[in-house]
Amino acid sequence: MRLTKRTHLVGSEQFGLSHPLDCNCYLIDCGSELALVDCGLGLGTEEVLSNITRSGFEIERLTHILITHSHIGHWGGSETIRKRTKARIWASTLGVSSMSNIDNDPGIRINVKFGRYPSGFVPRSCVPDSSFSDGDQIKIGDVEFRMIQVQGHTKDSTCFLFKDDSTQCLFTGDTVFYAGKIGLLNLEGCSLEDYRRDISKLADLNVDALFPGHSVFVLNRGQKHIERAIHKLSDFVLPESFFEDNEFVWDRDYLKTLTG
Ligand SMILES: [Zn+2]
Repeated sequence: MRLTKRTHLVGSEQFGLSHPLDCNCYLIDCGSELALVDCGLGLGTEEVLSNITRSGFEIERLTHILITHSHIGHWGGSETIRKRTKARIWASTLGVSSMSNIDNDPGIRINVKFGRYPSGFVPRSCVPDSSFSDGDQIKIGDVEFRMIQVQGHTKDSTCFLFKDDSTQCLFTGDTVFYAGKIGLLNLEGCSLEDYRRDISKLADLNVDALFPGHSVFVLNRGQKHIERAIHKLSDFVLPESFFEDNEFVWDRDYLKTLTG
């Protein structure tokens, strides 16, 4: 599904493009190379790859998988994609160790406890090839991405900024969603204090297209949604969390109806 001149949605639960446990997966046409922002849990990888082909691209042109943060729903499929393409996996320096060893991952532990994974699914670690830090610029083909670390949802959460012609695009992972909702969870690594400290790094970016890790994206006036999150985080009332409204996603019985 083409979203901007260079950006395509190739995986998603809410848009029905891949497995119900997948995040939004975005493909960016960087000219001679392709980049994938997040790649889902791993159960929908074949659909993600066929969506890339269906969008008119050869998967062999994929050179970069950029991971927004270390929650496995955003990178679990990366090992399979790395084996099938030329892609290297890029993650934040702060996320490399949790991806490389998932034995003590609190999110996976809770999902297993609540029976949210389909039977037969075995989460596997994945060692990234390269890492980025806050403020890094990564050139892929003729596109330059700026990495903006915003801690809060996790310690390694990073937003990716790039200009698509005149459209300023920001991939936000689970940091900021439509309507300025944030990715607040009752989970180790998630911190309101971090959010309050770092959210202003997204101010004044003049974002047009806001591409979050789940659910609705916007193609215009994205900065308004960010400003709402910044405003909410300046108040003392708990800001709205995206995951509160989308509780059904985490309901085991609901998932069973989707996954059969
Ligand atoms: Zn997350």
